[in-house]
Amino acid sequence: MTCASPVSTLDQWTRPLGVLRLSLTARCNLACPYCCPDSADPPGTLTLDQQLRLIRVAARLGVRTLRLTGGEPLLSDRLMPLLAGVADGRCTPGDPLVGLRDVALTTNGVLLSEGRARALKNTGLDRITVSLDAVDGAVAATMAGLRGGRSAGDGLVQQVLAGLVAARAAGFDPAAGDLKLNAVIQRGVNDDQLIPLAELARSQRMELRLIEYMDVGNRNGWRMDQVLPAEVMVQRIAEHWPLRSLGRTPGGTSRRWRYHDEVSDVGVVASISEPFCGDCNRLRITADGQAFTCLFAAQGTDLTPAMGSDQELEHAIRSLWQKRSDRYSEERHCTADSLPRAEMAYLGG
Ligand code: SAM
Ligand code: SF4
Repeated sequence: MTCASPVSTLDQWTRPLGVLRLSLTARCNLACPYCCPDSADPPGTLTLDQQLRLIRVAARLGVRTLRLTGGEPLLSDRLMPLLAGVADGRCTPGDPLVGLRDVALTTNGVLLSEGRARALKNTGLDRITVSLDAVDGAVAATMAGLRGGRSAGDGLVQQVLAGLVAARAAGFDPAAGDLKLNAVIQRGVNDDQLIPLAELARSQRMELRLIEYMDVGNRNGWRMDQVLPAEVMVQRIAEHWPLRSLGRTPGGTSRRWRYHDEVSDVGVVASISEPFCGDCNRLRITADGQAFTCLFAAQGTDLTPAMGSDQELEHAIRSLWQKRSDRYSEERHCTADSLPRAEMAYLGG
């Protein structure tokens, strides 16, 4: 397959396909109660060849950003060979992978050792987002579902901080946006960590992305009163450090703010309070090849029967995207709460 003609694939609301979030595993080494990962991978996990073909076909259809996620992607022995294959394609003239502008990874940072961070950089990874929901050990333990209270949580925070140091040392530069921090904020559970997390991110000149707690899946017992609206998060931070708005880039998930002292940025992902379905450009593919066009969908589309040839796969993904009309977050208020939904760690966040 060559990249002779760039293709723009539009859905029913003329939203272009732009981002592929590929989940490498549904398993995780943490058990965050707001996420509730699976303890085993689904049967029929894609092979390396199938994953590479999916990425190549998606690039052919307009995907410019690849985000590798999970579950915890650093648990997957597929990660390094996959990155190597993508890197090869990106520098092979005529390969659709040349069109990929950005290859990113979302991780909880626990396994982000010095060696691993260096290997990721050397294998062509452009950006890492590390998730950490608290600086205080006791709160971190609660958010990560760790038994062992404060001391277990302190251990987790230290591991993740060491992971951030390793990533910087490997060349992921926070000031250039190559290294970011994600935090899910749950009202009454970790909202007292907003300022400590902002302090941590500022001290490393790193962008902090604050995510509203979302009603993904059926296991986490989500309730609206557990959501701290993004506006409140921004107000609380602005009381400590004044902010100016940078807005939200089309297709982006976060509305961004810059500290007046220019130290770094803060982003808020307001999927609940200010849904951004209108320009959603994300396709999610699970570790077993199910494609989801919405984070809140009950069921995906099995792409494995179309894996016979690149043409079949391209046809399957294109028609799936062209039929797409979902915009769940914008319609949340008029949708029954009890609908079955796929879980976050399976979908890839
Ligand atoms: N294990 C990796 C991690 O935690 O970064 C990657 C997968 S995780 C599913 C991807 C992102 O989804 C994380 O930043 C996590 O905090 C976020 N997430 C998980 N469940 C969520 C929920 N119910 N609401 C909002 N964000 C959630
Ligand atoms: Fe694991 Fe990430 Fe889910 Fe936490 S949010 S349980 S780290 S997959």
